[in-house]
Amino acid sequence: MVVEAQIIKPIGKGIVHRICAGQVILDLSSAVKELVENSLDAGATSIEISLKDFGEQWFQVIDNGCGISPNNFKVLALKHHTSKLAEFHDLQSLTTFGFRGEALSSLCALGNLTVETRTASEPVATHLTFDSSGVLVAERKTARQIGTTVMVKKLFSSLPVRSKEFSRNIRREYGKLVSLLNAYALIAKGVRFVCTNTTGKNVRSVVLKTQGSGSLKDNIITVLGMNTFSCLEPVTLSISDSCKVEGFLSKSGQGNGRNLVDRQYFFVNGRPVDMPKVSKVVNELYRGANSKQYPIVILNFTVPTRTYDVNVTPDKRKIFFSEENALLQALREGLQQIYSASNVCYSVNEVV
Ligand code: ADP
Ligand code: MG
Repeated sequence: MVVEAQIIKPIGKGIVHRICAGQVILDLSSAVKELVENSLDAGATSIEISLKDFGEQWFQVIDNGCGISPNNFKVLALKHHTSKLAEFHDLQSLTTFGFRGEALSSLCALGNLTVETRTASEPVATHLTFDSSGVLVAERKTARQIGTTVMVKKLFSSLPVRSKEFSRNIRREYGKLVSLLNAYALIAKGVRFVCTNTTGKNVRSVVLKTQGSGSLKDNIITVLGMNTFSCLEPVTLSISDSCKVEGFLSKSGQGNGRNLVDRQYFFVNGRPVDMPKVSKVVNELYRGANSKQYPIVILNFTVPTRTYDVNVTPDKRKIFFSEENALLQALREGLQQIYSASNVCYSVNEVV
């Protein structure tokens, strides 16, 4: 094949926006995750997630957080506009989930975004409609308590291939979302979560409901159930002066089935993340004591914000630790002590 030299020209802004948006919002769970994280960043103590047809028609997240002030309405959904980060070095001391100002703008490019919001200083709420580039196109007054509702209709309608896949795999996407919401409901203290799904015939089912307890223990009992909780033991490890790990792990004889690695939740400073290397260490050690099962794991790493980088993948699920090997080694030693101290006895009857 003969290839002729081509002219290089810039891609249109709108096309770039759509291409990039599809990388930030990969699926239903990453879309809803962004909205839930915005609600948590806004200090909400109540977050309600509603889905229509498992999220295929629309989904919305309703919070009682601080709301959005009218000065911000015009820039709210513009790409890389954020209230959370001003300087690059702010990344090192970041305590919010968001910082890139990409979620709302990406959702505009992928579906139809509307927002209803009210701050404590406003007597009424405002309903906002945005176009696919995140430009505010309509604004009207409405009634609402203090807080914010973000609604997305027809996610992925602007990406034909993804849209088809989305509809085809909607049940699987929904399952992934519920498991992700469980992670936030487990770790967020003092935040009430409700998630409901309404199907075509207006049958509404409650998928998740928590009371907003102040303790991880109560959250585990609400989200995973008392039976599951009774098979766990608390873990507290001091990895270094500034790093500690707290949470719960299956007791050695009371794991979680024979081959299914689910109900394993890892958090860094309360942020749900994927930690494949940590997961490997925990599973290996557990299976040294109980070769027939996997453990349920709920572990939160409290570490200084300057020691890790969360700006690795668009969905922020991957983390780079500056001293990862030391952390893994200390974790291995700590867990070895726990599992060698506990009474190793496996019984099929004890399987949860
Ligand atoms: P980021 O979270 O990275 O800042 P987003 O696109 O998710 O980017 O949100 C843009 C901005 O909109 C946020 O910085 C925040 O100021 C505001 N915002 C979004 N959702 C909410 C909410 N539920 N409550 C209050 N403010 C919100
Ligand atoms: Mg955000």
